[in-house]
Amino acid sequence: MAKHFTDERWSDYVRGVLGAAGATAIEQHLERGCEECLQSFRFWRTVAETASNEARVAVPEGLERMARAAYIGWRQLSLLPQRATMARILFDSLSAPLPAGVRSEAASGRRILGRAGSWSFDLRLEPAAGKHLFLMGQVLRSGRGRGRSGLPVILMSTDAVIAETAANQFGEFQLQFDQANGLRIYIDVPGNRPIGMALPDFDNPPAAAKPRVD
Ligand SMILES: [Zn+2]
Repeated sequence: MAKHFTDERWSDYVRGVLGAAGATAIEQHLERGCEECLQSFRFWRTVAETASNEARVAVPEGLERMARAAYIGWRQLSLLPQRATMARILFDSLSAPLPAGVRSEAASGRRILGRAGSWSFDLRLEPAAGKHLFLMGQVLRSGRGRGRSGLPVILMSTDAVIAETAANQFGEFQLQFDQANGLRIYIDVPGNRPIGMALPDFDNPPAAAKPRVD
C-alpha cells in the first residue's frame, strides 16, 4: 500500500517549498484517489490560504499553532470514526453474569468486554455523582507483551471529542465524563488502523437477562 505523507510534507507542499520530486510524488498519489490524503490536502490548503491572508495582520506562529490544534481535532473527528476497526461487545455485566474465567474480584459498577481483531477492551464504568461516570479501561493486543506507553485514547460523541488521555505501558487508562448516548472510545494506534469501541447507550440498557423460569 502506498505511503501517505507527514504533516511536515503537506505543510511544505501547500506552501510551495517541497521541491519538484516531492510535489510530483504527492500529486501522483492524489491522482490515484487516496481519500485520506485528499482530505489532508484540502485541510492544509485551507491552512495555507488562511495563514497567507492572516499573515499581514497576525502573528504567524500563533496561527500555525492554532491550525495545528484544529488539524488534530479534525483528524480525530473525521478520520478516527472513518478508519477505525470497531470492537464487538462480547460481554456486558448489565445483561449477563460474568463468564467463567473472567476475574470478578472487586467487581463493582458495570463491566464491558469487547474485541477488535487482535485487540481487546476491558472497561469498568463506575457511577459518580449525578450523571458523572468514571471509566477504568485496559486495551491490549494479544500476543504482544508490554506495549508502548502513551497510546492516545479518545472518547467521542458523534460530533465532538469529549475526553482524551493516554494509556500507560500496560494499556490502562482512566476517563471521566457525563453519561450520554452514542459515545465511542478510539485508540489511535500509530502506524496502524485505529480501533474503536462503542459504549452502550445509557438510556436503553440491554434487555436484562430474563430470569429463567424452570
Ligand atoms: Zn494517501
